[in-house]
Amino acid sequence: MSNGKAQFATRAVHSDTPDPGTGAHITPIYQTSTYAYGSFDRGAGLFDRSEQGFVYSRVGNPTTHKLELVMADLEGAEAAVAFSSGMAAISALTVSVLSSGDHVLVLGPLYGGTESLFEDTLARFGITSSHVTEAELEEALARGAAMLYLETPTNPTLQIRDLARIGRLAREHGVLSVADNTFSTPWLTRPLEHGIDVVVHSGTKYLGGHGDAMGGIVAGSTELMGQVRLEGLRHFGGTPGPLESHLFLRGIKTLPIRMERHCENAAALAGVLESHPAVARVHYPGLRSHPGHEVAARQMKAFGGMVSIELRGGRDAARTFLDSLRVFTQAVSLGDVASLATHPATTTHSVVPVEVRERLGVSESLVRLSVGIEDVRDLEGDLARALGAVEAVHAHAA
Ligand SMILES: *Cc1c(COP(=O)(O)O)cnc(C)c1O
Repeated sequence: MSNGKAQFATRAVHSDTPDPGTGAHITPIYQTSTYAYGSFDRGAGLFDRSEQGFVYSRVGNPTTHKLELVMADLEGAEAAVAFSSGMAAISALTVSVLSSGDHVLVLGPLYGGTESLFEDTLARFGITSSHVTEAELEEALARGAAMLYLETPTNPTLQIRDLARIGRLAREHGVLSVADNTFSTPWLTRPLEHGIDVVVHSGTKYLGGHGDAMGGIVAGSTELMGQVRLEGLRHFGGTPGPLESHLFLRGIKTLPIRMERHCENAAALAGVLESHPAVARVHYPGLRSHPGHEVAARQMKAFGGMVSIELRGGRDAARTFLDSLRVFTQAVSLGDVASLATHPATTTHSVVPVEVRERLGVSESLVRLSVGIEDVRDLEGDLARALGAVEAVHAHAA
């Protein structure tokens, strides 16, 4: 039994505490841009920071503040700042802590938008970045860097990064480590507990969970989050609307049970897919055949809801497979209660040069599945039918 702090699932459900003003059981949607000072002196006090309170919703809103408290709690962080999208969060963090001349080490592959933020946008402002492997990391850190950036599991090939080792090495060399925890969520992995300094999220995915809201989170030390709020949020203005903050607060209450089902369904499908003759390879950290399985077992509560497969037969097989799906929807994004499927090579990763794509393992036959919380028998039936269609085309061609 716990003594004191409640367990994660209880904290997720009890994230709303009755509104102090009205007793409303659920945090109200504070649909307001500004806040009355009450008096001349309090107004001055709010601006010289001798008084605490809300001033203007770009930098703080009570509904959004609640979301920030909940996410800090669930990630085990001192503080968090909420944003209007994952990219708003990531770009605000980088411009808040990096300066011209700084170098960023990237343990890729990264989400395409983040990759291009480092490669194209920040590079124009004199912030350079380079990709390193986990094997090269120690040497690269010793040469000096301002930030180390990673995701785990990675998109779309679901590689696993060893957070404890990476966090320790980054601290030894005084480099700020940042982990994008979108694919895992704090229910499966809490990077700060493994020695990572800052966590970022696209809340749009599992935190919201219902495919109806865009949002992002940065979580870390009070000092750093103060800086992120006063620079990244205040100057770039990527503030979430209070309705979105409400949708995230609502989504987070069911995060543990949704994740349990996502993981259960994904694990079952990965096992079935691995033995199907039309499938050349399955990428899922829960499979013993996955190179990151042992590390994943150490740092994840379960293995996530994302599965990628390589089909036999290249782009044509991928087209036949995807066009034959009826329960899975062909669309980008992930973490929705409904199952989604994408062909990274022609969609999310189409702008990545072919050589780089091949190095990343994003082949023409790769399909990424975001496994939803539907009845697994329907998902299995859908995949079996689509794989059957692939086999029929192949038999015909052969
Ligand atoms: C979707 C995603 C992002 C970007 O988030 P948005 O909410 O779309 O801006 C960043 N990182 C990862 C891992 C993602 O999946």
